[in-house]
Amino acid sequence: MRHEFPILAQTIHGQPLTYLDNAASTQKPLAVIDAMDHCYRHEYSNIHRGVHTLSQRLSARYDAVREKTARFLNAARPEEIVFTKSTTEGLNLLASSLGELVLRPGDKILLTTLEHHANIVPWQRACQRFGAELVVLPINDAGELDTTHFSDYLDGVKIFSAALVSNALGTINDLAPLIAEAKARGIHTIVDAAQAVAHLPCDVQALGCDFLVFSAHKIYGPTGIGVLYGRHDLLDAMPPYQTGGDMILSVSFERTHYAAVPQKFEAGTPPIVEVIGLGAALDWVTDKGLADLAAHEETLRQAAEQALTALPCLRIIGTARHKAAVISFTLDGIHPHDAGTVLDQHGVAVRAGQHCAEPVMRRFGIPATIRASFAAYNNHDDIGRLVAAVQATQQLFQ
Ligand SMILES: *Cc1c(COP(=O)(O)O)cnc(C)c1O
Repeated sequence: MRHEFPILAQTIHGQPLTYLDNAASTQKPLAVIDAMDHCYRHEYSNIHRGVHTLSQRLSARYDAVREKTARFLNAARPEEIVFTKSTTEGLNLLASSLGELVLRPGDKILLTTLEHHANIVPWQRACQRFGAELVVLPINDAGELDTTHFSDYLDGVKIFSAALVSNALGTINDLAPLIAEAKARGIHTIVDAAQAVAHLPCDVQALGCDFLVFSAHKIYGPTGIGVLYGRHDLLDAMPPYQTGGDMILSVSFERTHYAAVPQKFEAGTPPIVEVIGLGAALDWVTDKGLADLAAHEETLRQAAEQALTALPCLRIIGTARHKAAVISFTLDGIHPHDAGTVLDQHGVAVRAGQHCAEPVMRRFGIPATIRASFAAYNNHDDIGRLVAAVQATQQLFQ
């Protein structure tokens, strides 16, 4: 499979590239690169406005990706798929638009300690705008959601938003039962699937969620394109997030009528070629088989965790029973940023920092971690080079 990812065939500081920063962004297969290249060379024009052939052809291909995405998420209908810029934009859209629809002064929004900043800060803005307040579900020492008192956290809550997989620790959260309990109490539920979508099935009907968001760039697709799934009746009731061309039925200076969903939430010229790239990425994953890709990554994660755990003075942060494709760790006496820099000298690309999840770091009383994260194209050589580079780092700082 590695030959499908041209970027992997290079050396960094004279060493073969060991790309283990997949939780930040995945590399792109030729299938995606070629689809976008072909689109610019042969198919490109603006969509949904033209009567000319190019525009009509590309409009049909764009709409087909919406249908493909709906199938990928098992959404009931394609109109429930809104194209956004990213997970971040999807969550901002919800905080603003769903917030305007449902939040009243004194209402509560339930998040968890595991959230990415993109699932925290938009809700803080919504609290300021609508007079609501945040409630946070805690985690245990393993980095798992502590759900023992979950029902106590639901009083006064109108929106519950949580990550399916933690980008900082890799914890897989068993959200379906929590969502069911929240929904039984009339709470609107949101799943941040940014870190989950490349590793486990994100079936919106099985999850039972009202909304789900992800970014294409974390599932082998391009940057600049994300997906918001929303239940049709809720999207229909929500006010628009951005306004302008393409999201209207008719405009006069007295009064504007909005288009139906999903167009109501896609103001302006969308990232057309990025949508084509997303379609190619979902096809690529579907062809390879998401379950097979995930099983391969799980083998690598377990091998890496075993090898790293055997090293002295290394602490794994996040020891949940169910994890996906992420290992976060610290090295005694070595700042994660210094470790990351030395690992890079060995050609090993990892992330060192807070992973946009400062509350997780605070929970564990650490400034940062080193995070190795896996994708379909990683192999046992990558693990071997990671472990050797970590040992070399420890020797250097001894
Ligand atoms: C990456 C990530 C985000 C943010 O995604 P963007 O593409 O940067 O908008 C949000 N939540 C989680 C869990 C993530 O892993």
